[in-house]
Amino acid sequence: MPRSHKTLPRLFVEAPLAPGATLEMGREHTNYLLTVLRMKKADALVVFNGSDGAWMARIADDHRKGATLEVVVQTQHQTPKSDLWFGFAPLRTGRLDYLVQKATEMGAGVIQPVITRYTQVSRLKSDKLVANVIEAAEQCEVLSVPTVADEVALSELLAHWQHEQGLRRLIFCDESAPSISPVEQMRDLDGLPVGLIVGPEGGFSDDERELLLAQPFVVPISLGPRILRADTAAVAALAVVQAIIGDWR
Ligand code: SAH
Repeated sequence: MPRSHKTLPRLFVEAPLAPGATLEMGREHTNYLLTVLRMKKADALVVFNGSDGAWMARIADDHRKGATLEVVVQTQHQTPKSDLWFGFAPLRTGRLDYLVQKATEMGAGVIQPVITRYTQVSRLKSDKLVANVIEAAEQCEVLSVPTVADEVALSELLAHWQHEQGLRRLIFCDESAPSISPVEQMRDLDGLPVGLIVGPEGGFSDDERELLLAQPFVVPISLGPRILRADTAAVAALAVVQAIIGDWR
């Protein structure tokens, strides 16, 4: 019983995809396909590269030193890249991986680490963040892999926001905001490009809150009467945005 492409393993590859193209797998992918997934010659899988949609491919050569895939047929058209910008204050490693994976699953198009006063993490390993984004994209069939931007200080981000982001509004998850439902505020943003920013475990400092609230492009929202952990707040805020003005409609 041939498996439909829905249940086939999915692999992100950095190569153009077209009928008959051959893809040389590196050590890591070869090990994953042949040893972890125990795939062998002629087995099928789905490959995507973030711009050419998803394609069914087969293992043309299952050589242990380096597998070769042959691209067969496109199974999904490329979906447009998400325009949702997501900014967050990096958390400790475990939670950081979780946060970046959830932002990918929830449809962020740009994932921007923002360094704030109470951010605990000093040096970010962006290749690890990218690996988490790709893993999440493979698992939840995201076709356009979000961009992971280099870290930026909050003051820098705000100073350059209008120049770099034009009309985009920045939805500021403010744990000190009066607890009212953000639905109305979201509706006012419908049709505008938006970004979302969530603070670190220790929240935003008073100066940062003042700086954020002073920006004409910032829209402060409450995420309810309880203080959520930063990773919970990120998923909750992304869900609110996607449900009311995003791609869940
Ligand atoms: N200072 C508190 C809050 C940190 S929560 C503490 O130390 O526990 C981390 C981030 O999640 C906040 O900066 C905010 O962006 C978001 N957040 C958490 N609960 C929220 C709420 N009820 N409303 C809006 N944002 C919230």
